[in-house]
Amino acid sequence: MKLETLLNVLPAETSPADKALIQKAYEAAEVAHSGQKRASGEPYVQHCLNVAYILAELRMPTAVLVAGLLHDTVEDTAYTLDDVRANFGPEVAVLVDGVTKLAQLPRVSKDGNTPIDRHAESLRKTFMAMSDDVRVVLIKLADRLHNMRTLMHVKPEKQARIARETLEIFAPLANRLGIWSIKSELEDLSFRYTNPARFREIAGHIAEQQADREQTMAAIVAQVREALKSANIEAEVSGRPKHIYSIYKKMERKEVDFDQVFDVRAVRIIVKDNPTCYHVLGVIHNLWRPVPGQFDDYIATPKDNFYQSLHTAVKYDDGKTLEVQIRTPEMHANAEYGIAAHWRYKEGVRHDEAYERRIQWLRSLMEWRQDVADSVEFVDALKTEVLEERVYAFTPRGDIIDLPAGATPIDFAYRVHTSIGDRCRGAKVNGKLVSLDYRLKTGEQVEIVTAKRGGPSRDWLNPDLGLVRTHRAVQKIRQYFRRQNRELLITQGRELLEKELKRLGIETYSFDALARMFEFAKPEELLFALGAGDIHGRQIAARLMEAEREAAAASQVLPAVDPRGAVQSGEVAVLGTKNLLTNLARCCKPVPGDPIIGYITRGRGATIHRQDCPNVLYHKEPERIIKVSWGQAQQTYPVLVRILAYDRGGLMKDISTVVAEEHINMTAISVATKNSLATFEVTMEIADTGVLSRVLARIEQLPNVIEARRWKAG
Ligand code: MN
Repeated sequence: MKLETLLNVLPAETSPADKALIQKAYEAAEVAHSGQKRASGEPYVQHCLNVAYILAELRMPTAVLVAGLLHDTVEDTAYTLDDVRANFGPEVAVLVDGVTKLAQLPRVSKDGNTPIDRHAESLRKTFMAMSDDVRVVLIKLADRLHNMRTLMHVKPEKQARIARETLEIFAPLANRLGIWSIKSELEDLSFRYTNPARFREIAGHIAEQQADREQTMAAIVAQVREALKSANIEAEVSGRPKHIYSIYKKMERKEVDFDQVFDVRAVRIIVKDNPTCYHVLGVIHNLWRPVPGQFDDYIATPKDNFYQSLHTAVKYDDGKTLEVQIRTPEMHANAEYGIAAHWRYKEGVRHDEAYERRIQWLRSLMEWRQDVADSVEFVDALKTEVLEERVYAFTPRGDIIDLPAGATPIDFAYRVHTSIGDRCRGAKVNGKLVSLDYRLKTGEQVEIVTAKRGGPSRDWLNPDLGLVRTHRAVQKIRQYFRRQNRELLITQGRELLEKELKRLGIETYSFDALARMFEFAKPEELLFALGAGDIHGRQIAARLMEAEREAAAASQVLPAVDPRGAVQSGEVAVLGTKNLLTNLARCCKPVPGDPIIGYITRGRGATIHRQDCPNVLYHKEPERIIKVSWGQAQQTYPVLVRILAYDRGGLMKDISTVVAEEHINMTAISVATKNSLATFEVTMEIADTGVLSRVLARIEQLPNVIEARRWKAG
């Protein structure tokens, strides 16, 4: 791409001064990046130019294009932020600073142990900047889009990780900002790498049927145009392209095959104003029979990313479904460009209400950001609070409460008011009592049943029970406990730990050893952390059981392979017999099949990282790196579980359902009933201690169950 290509795409009214500034930025970038090459072999400045071009297509103002050209200079070249400020002014400098990753990230956190997740940390920085200036995120999206377009030049082992991150964070972010054009391109580009087989399959199907489809679409568009013309409606009619990833998602969601998705044709009709949209709807419904249940009026009730349009579906002449979208040019700009539409058609408009609403909403979604210091936690919170689908539930007074999908009555209660959350004891949805792990749906009316006094339950923080979904509620619950008396928290922490250990049948342990294992200075600190809900008893119990298993394996007649021998001879298997205490790294989250490498930590065995994880790649102590492989499928071992309950019909079925949901095999089950007290003995094939703890906790939540615990026979 040449500089002229960028200059040519600028709107006609761009001033010569602005053009000169863009040229100057291009030249600065070219000098700064001289000698640097992209993975494709092209000069690096090509990337800068392409990013600016994408921003220009979004009709972003000059300062943003200039920042786009310079976005990598401060991070990757000798050009400093001061240089940017001196040559291009403070506004551009702020934008460039916002997209510059933390260059000098500390390798370890304050406690000196946990490696900082550099990846998450750099994401955190970007999103902290987002609610101050959304333009920073638009540059970041343009940067990511060009990187995805050129991903084929990158090493294969990096491709999947970058694509996955794009699919999990950047595409949903573009969706949240309403920038459909970028969202769908990012999705299709990522899908090629995250699921190459399916990508090729669907792309192949499309290519096969493309010619036929284009012919039919042309006929449909002509018919619609004709009908609108005879109704004296001026309209822009076009066929709507189908994106590979959206076809895939639809196939997965509706469990249908390609033809059933692809057979659905779609047209888009753009007309001058709202009343005309409804007029067009009438014309279309008069022409073809509407499919019941397929009409949505997103003009009257916009979607959560402020999307507006009329949607309907009709049966076309050949009996196949035709989807129709009807909207005004303004709605269309909003749908394609979202928050970026503000700069597109708003020349001279001082107050842009849609934009203000989006910005305000974005800020409210990001409310929690100051409270979260840990970058991994931040990215998790970002995913749930900002990027996922939302549900809208109502208070009894009719106020709308906006929550992430999967939110529960407790989340709802905390969103209404902290004191309602703290005292939440139950909930009614549309007048009916529901359990506290109920997943709210859009449109439901929720009434929280509160106690007069008292606080939240620590169980709410147990992730296994799924009682709380939002970050806000978790924070509030933790704050509640932290305000309690320290001694009391320590006592409660002790009770919690003892209960959990008993549940898992662990008898020999010392609080001192436990505190050391978790790197707490004193047992009290550990118990306090438990009481305050910072760590959960399950984490501790799981670690202990693991140790117990190791000991048992070591004392067996056939001795396990000596880990040192394994290191020397080559590889240590992660799955299968556990010779080493291994954990999967939180920074790069390897999954079976990824190329992996082990890093020997102090006192915590080996941490398994992906081979391309920067935390390992740049590590200065190569002697701590060991070769590992995934090895064979995970080994299971039998665990006897005893469940005490007041007998009732269907209890056995409920227990089996929970066990099956956790994908655990039961190899034996027996029940003895005495004085309406039932004792179940169940043998479960357990692969992972976390699962055991979770299944026991879930069984205890069933009505009539008194306790469920691991039982040692004899
Ligand atoms: Mn870049």
